[in-house]
Amino acid sequence: MSSCLFCEIIKGNLNADLVYEDDQVVAFKDINPQAPFHLLVIPKAHIATLNELESEHKELVGHLFLVAKDLATDAGYGQRGYRTVFNCNSDAGQAVYHIHMHVLAGRILGWPPG
Ligand code: 5GP
Ligand code: ZN
Repeated sequence: MSSCLFCEIIKGNLNADLVYEDDQVVAFKDINPQAPFHLLVIPKAHIATLNELESEHKELVGHLFLVAKDLATDAGYGQRGYRTVFNCNSDAGQAVYHIHMHVLAGRILGWPPG
């Protein structure tokens, strides 16, 4: 599969509130935010789930985390804290099958998650 909802956002065929883009990743606001700050950081490459990650993706995955850290800290959440989450497959509630890192902040985030 080479296209999906998030691929359409990357291609500009669907609107999203983009906050960051480079050659490897884009970040945009979640359409249904679960916290005052809720971004999705995604690779431009279509990777359906974490199960499809290979060793060739090591640098890309590291880059996703660095972008998430920069966006959360630039928004002022470095000290208070934030959470990064990847959901994988149905038990975890994955709804869009193009990997995406949720970056959540701005409220106390409960643990364990639901
Ligand atoms: P998942 O449950 O797969 O981990 O998360 C998918 C996320 O994508 C959900 O938080 C959902 O609100 C978000 N989402 C689904 N469709 C769209 C969309 O068209 N635009 C944006 N910005 N977010 C979306
Ligand atoms: Zn995709």
